[in-house]
Amino acid sequence: MLQLVENLQRLGTETAFEVLARAAELERQGKSIINLGIGQPDFKTPPHIVEAAVRALRDGHHGYTPAQGILPLREAVAKDLARRHAVEVDPDAVVIMPGGKPTMFFSILMFGRPGVEIMYPDPGFPIYRSMIQYTGARPVPIALKEENEFAFTADQVLSQITPATSLIVLNSPNNPCGGAVPAQEIQRLVAGLEQHPHVALLSDEIYSQMLYGKRKHESLLRYREIRDRLIVLDGWSKTYAMTGWRLGFAVWPKPLVEHAVRLAVNCHSCVNAPTQHAGIAALEGPQEEVHEMMAAFDERRRVIVPLLNQLPGFRCVDPGGAFYAFPNITGTGMDARELQNKMLETAGVATVAGTSFGIHGEGYIRFSYANSVANIREAINRLAALLRD
Ligand code: PLP
Repeated sequence: MLQLVENLQRLGTETAFEVLARAAELERQGKSIINLGIGQPDFKTPPHIVEAAVRALRDGHHGYTPAQGILPLREAVAKDLARRHAVEVDPDAVVIMPGGKPTMFFSILMFGRPGVEIMYPDPGFPIYRSMIQYTGARPVPIALKEENEFAFTADQVLSQITPATSLIVLNSPNNPCGGAVPAQEIQRLVAGLEQHPHVALLSDEIYSQMLYGKRKHESLLRYREIRDRLIVLDGWSKTYAMTGWRLGFAVWPKPLVEHAVRLAVNCHSCVNAPTQHAGIAALEGPQEEVHEMMAAFDERRRVIVPLLNQLPGFRCVDPGGAFYAFPNITGTGMDARELQNKMLETAGVATVAGTSFGIHGEGYIRFSYANSVANIREAINRLAALLRD
């Protein structure tokens, strides 16, 4: 018998990938599938970013880099954060990572152990809970509610803090619901946190440039009083359509930087050099394509939400950010998994059941609108026919 460690049994996964695998299988069998399941932009990485990576390789940037990331990239990140959030960030507090995810992995490893509690959004990105369980910490969900447009409230978070709370994971705008937390709620949360100096925060702001209407992103970085215990995760994947490049960053409290870098040395050494050069081009180059992508997502949002609301048994709040709609489907009489499977198998529309994102996702389905308006309309037509039968 192999002597595998027991915490591997508690490590979860992204069940969304199972739906996508099934969708691909159906497609191979010749079925027409419209994919509203996938959580990545359907656009190409802007050409000037690709060009910067190619140029970097041609110029000989093929070796290891410092584990923390090359200084010009960390400086570009600091400048970008100053531009977007009007905050001062020391490039030495920035750690470049292979994507947004590894920052979750490292932060939860740093704060999770048996006997402590870690709070996380539910419905939420499944890796939070998975990693919390892996470390043996107790997962404490922050239930995101439809009546609150899937934004957490300060009271909800503060009322669940105990002496055992080591870390709170926050995510706004949120995956899978698209909820965006208003600035005044963040302010109330930060004020309340003053009473709980033992609690660290991981703010996942990967969708911070994807907000609709008059909404503005309120980064936790704006609050100096919590900077000594705040980790902010962000990256290029969603904003610049760079999911497969594997490039992300986090701003860490100064004393934690050395731990994050040491974990990076032990884990991946560094992000590949040409990708880091592409990251500089993304931040310092023209932002028109980012604005165009956002305009396209906004248009699709304005198409999909009213159409979802017309489907029998569906009710959908207007998502404030990201590129997901999260309709309540309890009126169909089916549970989330059942409806997800039926929509895929019968109508050829791939989506992800809310339960893939936590127990509070029951009764909901995630529709990613990272797809064309024509495909969105066709998918909804198919679903209307399915639900009428
Ligand atoms: N955080 C959230 C909330 C996400 O939805 C995702 C990806 O879907 C990530 C982080 C991970 O991003 P990356 O692909 O850069 O690791």
